[in-house]
Amino acid sequence: MQFHNTLDFAKQLDKEDILANFRNEFHLLYKNGKPIIYLCGNSLGLQPKNVKAAIDQELKDWAELGVEGHFEGKNPWMYYHHFLKEKAARIVGAKTDEVVIMNNLTANLHLMMVSFYRPTKKRYKILMEGSAFPSDQYAMETQARFHGFNPDDAIIELVPRNGEYTIRTEDIVVKINEHKDDLAIVMMGGVNYYTGQFFDLKAITDAAHAVGATVGFDCAHAAGNIDLKLHDWNVDFAVWCTYKYLNSGPGGTSGVFVHERHGNNPDLIRFAGWWGHDESKRFLMEKGFKPMQGAAGWQLSNAQIFPLAIHNASLELFDKAGIENLRAKSKKLTAFLEFVLSDFKDYLTIITPTNPDERGCQLSIIVKNEGKKLFDYLTQNNVLPDWREPDVIRMSPVPMYNSFEDVFQIGQVIKSYFNK
Ligand SMILES: *Cc1c(COP(=O)(O)O)cnc(C)c1O
Repeated sequence: MQFHNTLDFAKQLDKEDILANFRNEFHLLYKNGKPIIYLCGNSLGLQPKNVKAAIDQELKDWAELGVEGHFEGKNPWMYYHHFLKEKAARIVGAKTDEVVIMNNLTANLHLMMVSFYRPTKKRYKILMEGSAFPSDQYAMETQARFHGFNPDDAIIELVPRNGEYTIRTEDIVVKINEHKDDLAIVMMGGVNYYTGQFFDLKAITDAAHAVGATVGFDCAHAAGNIDLKLHDWNVDFAVWCTYKYLNSGPGGTSGVFVHERHGNNPDLIRFAGWWGHDESKRFLMEKGFKPMQGAAGWQLSNAQIFPLAIHNASLELFDKAGIENLRAKSKKLTAFLEFVLSDFKDYLTIITPTNPDERGCQLSIIVKNEGKKLFDYLTQNNVLPDWREPDVIRMSPVPMYNSFEDVFQIGQVIKSYFNK
């Protein structure tokens, strides 16, 4: 598509956008009565307006029914996680029972590692991307130690080639093959939080399986951003948080995907709790853990109704919009931002891949020597991207609530900065 850097053109794209009205379903931000262009949906998504009623419903049932709410509530708490799984499965391309919503991301990552990182003396290495999100680094480091390995030896980090910012798929595959005899698991981000690179999850999964390793992805930056196909790609497990692109509130709940070939294997080692136990027998309080089929068999505790209520409300909007439609708009919106930023080529470098199939809706920008200054200028002028040490400004035009006009205006603010 041929873009033009004009307000009229941006407005025309908004007019043609079938998702344009979803913006009205969110609490957009204002400062001194002026709208803020929010570009932090990759960090904390905006609040959907339908969330309040969803929480109020559960507060009401709790107030009026007490413990009876588990069975008598409008949405009986006993079965609450079931109300989310179909919608969540559509987001990540899974079968319904391959998904469960529970806990928080890093806790779930550890739970999955218990089942899928089963190192032996010979096959014990973990392959991950270098400079992964710190929580993932700490999780892998302590997982290696937990099994008695030295993390410096057990963890293999993928790094870009000299002079490049992102990691080539071919290099990942080569690394997997180099370690064909000692690789236990590949555990990477689906989309890297820093560069915005979307990895080729299918190619990575195929390569890892071919050498006998398991594969899990942290989809914190991929869920709700990319139209994932976790089942078809044959991924072993995935985890994600719900407060970034999935707009489910600070510290919100998390999602887990377990491929059905594992989910239906009751003998797979796991750490268990009563909520993962056969639902029909849960209240018999019997000895002997018998897991539910599917990802639900990894649940520990009774469902956190309030975070789940928020997430359920948010997922309703994703269902209405459709993840394919969101992805289609996202590609166009991000490409438009890339086009608008191309006016400032002399000052800034975009380190996110240019291929729309290798990124979601984030562009990571390095500004020579004055990244922090530009960042501060943007925030003072009602544009809210985020800053990630050491030197990157991340901008995420989110298809659910950002507009093409937003993107045009970002360009205008940057222009006024460099023309100062
Ligand atoms: C956001 C993010 C986290 C955060 O983990 P929490 O357990 O939700 O605090 C972890 N890993 C990645 C890759 C992330 O992007």
